[in-house]
Amino acid sequence: MKPESTLPNHTRVLIIGSGPAGYTAAIYAARANLSPTLLEGLQPGGQLTTTTDIENFPGFPDGIDANELMENMRKQAESFGTKMLQNTCTNAQLNVRPFQFTLDNGDNITADSVIIATGASAKYLGLPDEQKYMGRGVSACATCDGFFYRKKIVAVVGGGDTACEEASYLAGLASKVYLIVRKPFLRASKIMQERVLTNEKIEVLFETNTIGLYGENGVEGAKLVYRKGENDEKVYDLPIDGFFLAIGHHPNSELFKDYLETDTNGFIVTKDDTPCTDVPGVYVAGDVADPKYRQAIIAAGSGAKAAMEAEKYLAQ
Ligand code: NDP
Repeated sequence: MKPESTLPNHTRVLIIGSGPAGYTAAIYAARANLSPTLLEGLQPGGQLTTTTDIENFPGFPDGIDANELMENMRKQAESFGTKMLQNTCTNAQLNVRPFQFTLDNGDNITADSVIIATGASAKYLGLPDEQKYMGRGVSACATCDGFFYRKKIVAVVGGGDTACEEASYLAGLASKVYLIVRKPFLRASKIMQERVLTNEKIEVLFETNTIGLYGENGVEGAKLVYRKGENDEKVYDLPIDGFFLAIGHHPNSELFKDYLETDTNGFIVTKDDTPCTDVPGVYVAGDVADPKYRQAIIAAGSGAKAAMEAEKYLAQ
């Protein structure tokens, strides 16, 4: 193993991000005696903490509260010696050795290797009502929350592959699914379009935008505006129980763009289905590099892989 640096604020492995990818990477790195440091960021626990119960994470036949699951992962990582910092990273330099990072409190930290697990953030429309009803009818993850809408009426916003996938998934549970699409056509792949358009439970509302939500105890409906040309406009209320956003995700990769390859949507590109990047010692785990699956269990698995790669690198 390389000798440990004597620099102050130095760590062998810096893990940035506290979702399932970050905490799992920390568990593996800590158990490998690498004494990792983990930056928890503004939202410890990551995206999952915006949902309620998790019923598809293996090992919990009765489901588990999302916050409890993340708290358990955190405790497990800490118990093996992970140093947790409640900071965000504001600057990263991956072209120097050791790598250098600046934190939001102005501290600097150096690291021999880094695991980027900064996740992705669902895009929202920006309506105040989305915040008001968050977790009470508003969701950005059908796989996480769809089960709570069995035999209910839901709406999905978006016309891409994600929206079509979410609408199809929800159609298997809900009694009716509206797909709210702002353009007169779907952007999704042909196969997904066909799946949506031939599903009897899904009704596509083209050229329609959401301007608000209403309800006493959670979402009871959406205020929609249908606009065709300049003179044909209709504002109306659509009674629904759940409102799902599927208008894309922002991968949180901004800090690393000068050093790492990203795809056209900003997801970090890794090598050959591994967590490795073009920069030796820099690994990526979870949703920041995953435009497709975006599931907690997959993020956790990729965190384990990233820590194993970091361990191998540090042992060279
Ligand atoms: P996309 O960017 O492809 O689609 C976003 C959709 O949301 C578009 O229909 C867009 O409308 C709409 N939208 C964006 N902003 C707003 C807004 N403010 N109000 C209303 N509607 C809005 O994102 P996806 O997440 O669907 O897909 C991302 C990538 O991942 C794509 O390349 C996709 O193919 C891929 N993917 C692949 C899957 C698979 O292969 N199984 C599954 C899921 C995603 P507009 O068209 O008007 O811009």
